[in-house]
Amino acid sequence: MIKLSRFAHVFEMDDGNVALYHSLRMKPVYLSREAFESLQAWLASSFCNECEDAPSTIYNEVLELKKWKILSHNEDEDEKVLEFIKSQIPEPAISVCYMILSEQCNLACKYCFLGNNDQEKRSHFSLQNMSVETADKAITFFLRQLNNSGLDFEKEKAVVIFYGGEPLVNYPILVYIAEKLIQLQKTEHCLKNLEMSMVTNGLLLDDKKITKLKELGVGVAISVDGFTEQENAMRVDQGGKTVFHKVLEKIARCQALGLNITLSVTLSEETIKNRENIIRLLRQYNIGALGFNIMMSSDTFALPDSYSDAAAHYIIDEFVQLRELGIYEDRIMRKLDAFSKAKVYFSDCAATSGGQIVIAPDGQVGICHGCLQDKKYFVSDVDDKAFDCKSDETYIEWSQLTPVNHEECLGCPALGICGGGCPLNAMYLKKGNTIHSIDTRFCSHAKMTLDFLIHDLYRVVSERKMQNA
Ligand code: SF4
Ligand code: SF4
Repeated sequence: MIKLSRFAHVFEMDDGNVALYHSLRMKPVYLSREAFESLQAWLASSFCNECEDAPSTIYNEVLELKKWKILSHNEDEDEKVLEFIKSQIPEPAISVCYMILSEQCNLACKYCFLGNNDQEKRSHFSLQNMSVETADKAITFFLRQLNNSGLDFEKEKAVVIFYGGEPLVNYPILVYIAEKLIQLQKTEHCLKNLEMSMVTNGLLLDDKKITKLKELGVGVAISVDGFTEQENAMRVDQGGKTVFHKVLEKIARCQALGLNITLSVTLSEETIKNRENIIRLLRQYNIGALGFNIMMSSDTFALPDSYSDAAAHYIIDEFVQLRELGIYEDRIMRKLDAFSKAKVYFSDCAATSGGQIVIAPDGQVGICHGCLQDKKYFVSDVDDKAFDCKSDETYIEWSQLTPVNHEECLGCPALGICGGGCPLNAMYLKKGNTIHSIDTRFCSHAKMTLDFLIHDLYRVVSERKMQNA
């Protein structure tokens, strides 16, 4: 008997037509309302043993639905698709390195998931910045991981992200590492496509540093929470004073000195209430790229339940607005990329793909920079010559955190584009949760984004048909 796959989902289009979509094969098939109703009637009849039995009015549609596994024939077809997709989950392979140059930060943002706003947590942070000796060992350790990764660095890129705390607290070591890596590019093939960037609050930038970062090719992502002082009310210094006006001065200096910065925007509750401020600011400072971060709850910072939906709406609305200006937001682009290639997106961060190392200032090595304050999931150190992520239990565990392995996720339409959000956030959401729990805050974003992509593609296809008619 032909039947709808367990991974098939129906989406209603605004004009009454429908899209049928298999959450793991990821190609929507659009049907007119009449064709959909005929299909339902045929599937409910006793004449649907083979696709060839389909009424001539929907014959071609049935073949298309079969092609994308939305209609299945054999009982075990769904299982085979799932097994095949699971066999594609990549094994751990390091290509990304977070260099934590200092655990200290000059700010104390009220929501900081690292704990820089909390005296108790802050007391766990090391006062010691990364030394030259540790930096040398960190580079050697990272190179060893790249060379053992099995990745093809002709096509792939090695990525170094300078991070903290605040990385500019230890600026000389940033320059030291960047210069050494540039030098090593001449001999180390794995660094051929090296990309270096820094996530910073920007306050410690000055003209000399801006010029040097530009010369070194270190991308600068400045963290903000929104686009006005009010939207940045939670971004405060250790005395509790807001700093956004000072950040804008630094962005203006970058612009004047020709350093193209990007923005890493943590969406505060205040920010998502407005739609105009973002465009004004991006235009004013000629900023061409940005990425949105959905705020995380923690044991010291709780968000209202309404936040997730509101943030998901905001991201989609802004994506539509920004793409008209040729500005592409990273978070949606990653999902759009998976959707357009019909390729399952297994993980939403390099930690859950087992693809990153985080090197603390004292040389400890972990998988996620969100665990700096307690060094949970820190499993090695830069002196460990034998470390191999492919056989490390923590890396194997994290690389399997994809929704495809979650029984609760298998019925979700967004299964193929989701990536699963952030396991740390999942852990903090509720008492008793672990990294294996679902990051439900992220579900709104993944599901709404899929809905948007399916509707948006329908719009494009319909417009094209009208033009060709
Ligand atoms: S697990 Fe969460 S905090 Fe850690 S790297 Fe991934 S997204 Fe970031
Ligand atoms: S995490 Fe949420 S959105 Fe993602 S697949 Fe699971 S249920 Fe769906």
